[in-house]
Amino acid sequence: MIFEFSDKVKELQSRVQAFMDEHVYPNEQLFYDQVAEGDRWQPTAIIEELKAKAKEAGLWNLFLPESDRGAGLTNLEYAPLCEIMGRVSFAPEVFNCSAPDTGNMEVFERYASEELKERWLKPLLNGEIRSAFAMTEPAVASSDATNIESEITRDGDEYVINGTKWWTSGACDPRCKVLIFMGKTDKSASLYKQQSMIVVPMDTPGINVKRFLPVFGYDDAPHGHAEVEFKNVRVPADHILLGEGRGFEIAQGRLGPGRIHHCMRQIGVAERALEKMCKRVKSRVAFGKPIAEQTVTLERIAESRAMIEQARLLTLKAAYMMDTVGNKEAKAEIAMIKVVAPNITGKIIDWAIQAHGGGGVSDDFGLAFAYAHSRTLRLADGPDEVHRNQIGRLELKKYN
Ligand SMILES: Cc1cc2nc3c(=O)[nH]c(=O)nc-3n(C[C@H](O)[C@H](O)[C@H](O)COP(=O)(O)OP(=O)(O)OC[C@H]3O[C@@H](n4cnc5c(N)ncnc54)[C@H](O)[C@@H]3O)c2cc1C
Repeated sequence: MIFEFSDKVKELQSRVQAFMDEHVYPNEQLFYDQVAEGDRWQPTAIIEELKAKAKEAGLWNLFLPESDRGAGLTNLEYAPLCEIMGRVSFAPEVFNCSAPDTGNMEVFERYASEELKERWLKPLLNGEIRSAFAMTEPAVASSDATNIESEITRDGDEYVINGTKWWTSGACDPRCKVLIFMGKTDKSASLYKQQSMIVVPMDTPGINVKRFLPVFGYDDAPHGHAEVEFKNVRVPADHILLGEGRGFEIAQGRLGPGRIHHCMRQIGVAERALEKMCKRVKSRVAFGKPIAEQTVTLERIAESRAMIEQARLLTLKAAYMMDTVGNKEAKAEIAMIKVVAPNITGKIIDWAIQAHGGGGVSDDFGLAFAYAHSRTLRLADGPDEVHRNQIGRLELKKYN
């Protein structure tokens, strides 16, 4: 693995950085002000404005590897750019690189028919609509996806969908026009062939977005995480992806890129928390000396720097493996970074909060919100324990 980024990546890094400096950081507060004004569940004007600027600047859809529709970057090339975007919670959307759309667009790109691509991938890539991914269910332990109970039943030239999902991120946003739904098409099939994935337009009768679920009190508006009920929702039979019983196969393909994108962004979140911690402790004096000079502070700063460097290298290694041997072969590295990145980021934010005193848990420094989000990533896309089990099993396999 070569540690130096190519000239192409360096040039893109400086352009994304310049865009962030000129357009994103100066509008950070404005975004939250616009969300707070009027209806929280309406898209903000500032995001739409910035999206147009990023598109014009050619900083758009940077995530999609191995496709003419993306910017032609590999996962390894995208990683440092995604890290820069990750420093501001809404920035990935500005570059059309946000979750869950990136994972969903990868699914459309790799597994959907040309008709479905034209209808859904095209407007998603243009940033005209948004999407959601509906797998987790309140009724069952969904970290084991074989438990998923929702039904997708064939009826003539349609499928009929019934079930309740929750934590369907993005489903509260009025721009969310389509979702990818996972459910059972055949309960009598072998365990990993029971599930399928199907494309569901959000305006199909029978879909009821029942409520949003707050995360430690944050609603994440206008994106949100929803509980969604599906009652006799009928979609054309050609909306099934790849065919019946292939849900796990697609999940494998989708979750790899989705997971590593979260990790790339988390490195940016961790860097920013460390930056805030350093600035704060240098500016405050307690018991006769700057807080920065307390050895406990130095130790936390040093540990944070070391943890970030380790996590970044592992992220890059996982991305490199995805590019060179494929998502399946890179599964150990993807699982490792999925555990490491949110854990180190959560720890660093926690130290940054401590360094800010009471201010750290307020909304004045963005740390409480960042902490809430990082904490969720130890659950979303699979809890830590499930990834650790997989890593452990792969390690033991070497001794068979
Ligand atoms: C903010 C947020 C956004 C999300 N977005 C989406 C989304 O867009 N779409 C979607 O479908 N889902 C989404 N999720 C759901 C997420 O993927 C699930 O919460 C996660 O997979 C765990 O499933 P569960 O909640 O059913 O927990 P359960 O399966 O009930 O597990 C509970 C706990 O049991 C323990 N556990 C489980 N398995 C093992 C094991 N093998 N060994 C040891 N311990 C274990 C773990 O501690 C785990 O946290 C989101 C979640 C959050 C918090």
